Amino acid sequence: MRQDRIARLRQLLETRELDAVLLAGSASLRYFCGFSGSDGALMVSADAVIFLTDSRYTSQAGHEVVADLIRQYSGKVEGIAGLIGEQGWHRVGFEAEAISFALAQRLQGQAPQECDWQPLGQEVQALRQRKDAEEIRIMAAAARLAGDAFEEIRPTIRPGVTERELALALEFAMKRRGAEDKSFDFIVASGERGALPHGVASQRRLAAGELVTFDFGARWQGYCSDETVTLALGEVPAQLEEVYHVVLTARRLALEQVRPGVALRELDRVARDHIAASGYGPFFGHGLGHGVGLEVHEQPLVSGRSEAVAEIDMVFTIEPGIYLPGAGGVRIEDTIQVTADGYRRLTCLPKEYSVLPV
Ligand code: ZN
Ligand code: ZN
Repeated sequence: MRQDRIARLRQLLETRELDAVLLAGSASLRYFCGFSGSDGALMVSADAVIFLTDSRYTSQAGHEVVADLIRQYSGKVEGIAGLIGEQGWHRVGFEAEAISFALAQRLQGQAPQECDWQPLGQEVQALRQRKDAEEIRIMAAAARLAGDAFEEIRPTIRPGVTERELALALEFAMKRRGAEDKSFDFIVASGERGALPHGVASQRRLAAGELVTFDFGARWQGYCSDETVTLALGEVPAQLEEVYHVVLTARRLALEQVRPGVALRELDRVARDHIAASGYGPFFGHGLGHGVGLEVHEQPLVSGRSEAVAEIDMVFTIEPGIYLPGAGGVRIEDTIQVTADGYRRLTCLPKEYSVLPV
């Protein structure tokens, strides 16, 4: 499995005519060599895989890391630059999204003068966008864990409780089930706050007659889940119920198009067209979805700007929403796996319109 990943990385080396690539982002380190710590570097050339870290992590690396060599450094910059000099690598690609400008400058200062540094953008992350069977199994388990935790707290979603209390209860329920962490700061947005697509949980108290949106996820064996449900607290204004059904239909229309070969921007277009035709076009401001994996937002992008085409075993979200300033909002989100004949939903909570007792 790791060999296959390293082989794909080496294809990138070849395409970009690089002698070696330097990876330092925690997702890349975990994906390409198994390291789950937070500080280290991986250098891969055509014939070597070398992991570097400091003394805090050498014993952890000894257990986790699959590499030809594990090297301990006392200074990160000196360690990496020294290795490049020893190996005589000239054209070195680096994971630009994970290496700060300051670190890149220091590396350039320490490495041999003739070293030609090549920033690598999203092409490194794109190597992770198709998941293998083990990743899918873990991601389905993460989604189930998060969904089960949500079902546990559902009876406590009542008028009078604050958004933050619910967010905390949800996090607690997930961690008690074994989640390593939450995959991001949960969004709990009730009433008018539902119009904020990224309204993290506040001290606002829920009230009868409004909608409440929960966007949440668990981290399990390094992988993130991501799901959003919007629920009604008793009977809500007719327009909000109508908006819910518009979003639900947009979701269905997008899901129906999912199959290998479909342009991801087409999924966005189908959902967006339905929302626009229903009169709510200006109130759906974000893209339809995003890839999920070791990071909660990763490749591929699912939006009108996406150049990507669905491939089997890609995992991404479908999350249409409508946000009405001053009134409230609805978002419905699932994480799906592209399969040979369509898709499989990894998230498991029902998405039909649901009214909680008040
Ligand atoms: Zn989400
Ligand atoms: Zn999402």
